[in-house]
Amino acid sequence: MRPVIDLADHLPVGSYEIPDRHRTRVILRDHTCRFPHCTRPATRCDLDHTRPHGEGGPTCPCNEVALCRRHHRAKTHSTWRYDIVMPGSYVWTSPTGHRFRVDHRGTHPIRTTHPPDE
Ligand SMILES: [Zn+2]
Ligand SMILES: [Zn+2]
Repeated sequence: MRPVIDLADHLPVGSYEIPDRHRTRVILRDHTCRFPHCTRPATRCDLDHTRPHGEGGPTCPCNEVALCRRHHRAKTHSTWRYDIVMPGSYVWTSPTGHRFRVDHRGTHPIRTTHPPDE
């Protein structure tokens, strides 16, 4: 098992603009838009700063995720949210509170059998 730090692939730069060498790495890691069920190739996606640059999010591959234009907008303008579980593995929460795990194996609804604050 490879240590997570290898996959995290930290290459922070000071600018908001994401350099091409980050884009290449994110495309190799994410393959397609990481929104649940979206199959848009990462080569045609935006890179989203998971934690906004204005809130201290680094311009670093660990904070950049491939999202197509439509889903980049959904994240920006609606209450769709996601968390990075580990590099390449994400958990999305819909505006209605449904959760989905998205990773290299696809999209899987997360069924909560107990209240989270049980
Ligand atoms: Zn990083
Ligand atoms: Zn998409």
